[in-house]
Amino acid sequence: MKLPFILAKRFVAGETFESAVSKIKALNEKQIKVTLDLLGENVKEKTTAEETVKVYIRLLNDIKEAGLKSTISIKLTMLGLDIDEQYCRDNLYVLLDEARKLDSFVRIDMEGSDNTQKTIDIFKEAFQIYGKHVGIVIQAYLHSTKTDIVELADLGADVRLCKGAYSEPERVALQNMPAIREAFKEYAKVLFEKTPYPRIATHDDELVEWVKSYTAENNIGKARFEFQMLYGLREETMEQLTNEGYNTRVYVPYGTMWFPYFKRRLLERKENVWFVLSTMFKK
Ligand SMILES: Cc1cc2nc3c(=O)[nH]c(=O)nc-3n(C[C@H](O)[C@H](O)[C@H](O)COP(=O)(O)OP(=O)(O)OC[C@H]3O[C@@H](n4cnc5c(N)ncnc54)[C@H](O)[C@@H]3O)c2cc1C
Repeated sequence: MKLPFILAKRFVAGETFESAVSKIKALNEKQIKVTLDLLGENVKEKTTAEETVKVYIRLLNDIKEAGLKSTISIKLTMLGLDIDEQYCRDNLYVLLDEARKLDSFVRIDMEGSDNTQKTIDIFKEAFQIYGKHVGIVIQAYLHSTKTDIVELADLGADVRLCKGAYSEPERVALQNMPAIREAFKEYAKVLFEKTPYPRIATHDDELVEWVKSYTAENNIGKARFEFQMLYGLREETMEQLTNEGYNTRVYVPYGTMWFPYFKRRLLERKENVWFVLSTMFKK
């Protein structure tokens, strides 16, 4: 069943790149950068994975031609990680060749824990070849992050730190918010100490305030990191941070395959359900 897009429009910028452009421009005009995410995950057919690579390549070119301040975020399962690891790596490298040619940047989103190690392995190899054109995401709730973050930070990798959005069992991930917040702070410190430009991805006031104090107390300049938030959430906070002189970036998803992303946002916070309901009743 195709659900009406009106349900998702609070969190998703449009079903096509063209329909998302005005929203990206509006953010850029406020000095907020963007990372664009073509929605979709868990591709099972090689033809779909290859088509996705072509769409991403076109997207990198469209961003450049439209003069947008935007990078892209991708999921390895869109490039065939569920089909075969080497096949996925080959697809990623085709995309990264183009990113390097255009002097652009590709962030590899982190998915469920079945894919964490594979994603980190593929990233590490790609980072040796493509350096500043590729980055990764680390989830604070995973127990394995304790060692992964140090290894990635020692490489000087470009890391986005988030709490983690997937439902994971207790043996794999922390389950309560105070513990996840403490882990987030510990890992942020590692990134601030060892990596050139940490990306702090959260809407959580406690963490945002903590980052502001920690960086001020440790003489870490506002130009040395950025805050990231999701499209449709905490827009005023994002503008305020930008006006305070922090670097900011919004993750802007678009595309027709919006349902899994939309569902994760609804499960995350009950308030998001009200956002959606209120959107439906607004013109
Ligand atoms: C840019 C970006 C990229 C991401 N990439 C990934 C990824 O690759 N893989 C992955 O697993 N996850 C990713 N995530 C999702 C992330 O893991 C979390 O699931 C998500 O951000 C929710 O956690 P939170 O820290 O933002 O706040 P939450 O834990 O949802 O909320 C904590 C507190 O923040 C405040 N708050 C939060 N939202 C609002 C709001 N809308 N209005 C008012 N107050 C609010 C409230 O005080 C709330 O109690 C990403 C998130 C961002 C922002």
